[in-house]
Amino acid sequence: MTDRELDALIAEKVMCLVWDEKRCRVCGWMMLAEGEVGCHPDRCSMVWEGPRPPRADEPDFYSTDRNAAALVLERIGELGLQEDFLHFLHNLPMKTWSATYAICLWERLTASPRQLMEAALACVLAKSEEGKHA
Ligand SMILES: [Zn+2]
Repeated sequence: MTDRELDALIAEKVMCLVWDEKRCRVCGWMMLAEGEVGCHPDRCSMVWEGPRPPRADEPDFYSTDRNAAALVLERIGELGLQEDFLHFLHNLPMKTWSATYAICLWERLTASPRQLMEAALACVLAKSEEGKHA
């Protein structure tokens, strides 16, 4: 799975973000009725200089940006999944291994955003799977 594929899954399954179809997918502004000056489903009204900006409907860069990853950790806390999350994070391969508790904690603290997101997705999916069987 690429980082961006993981980002899209995090947006959908963990952050539960649903795109408001009334908003332009390019710039995020509200779309207007045909004939009005503004964004329409087939064309954005924004005029960009230089390279186009990222699309408004793209997921945040959760698996490569620590600030975006921090929002996901906050969400894990809101869902009450801290313990499950740490369990899944613990099971991810780490660069080094030591049996000492301090080193285990350090490895979790220094996990890459990608590792954090893999654990976040795994624990939320496990939780929803659990709900289905209940
Ligand atoms: Zn637009």
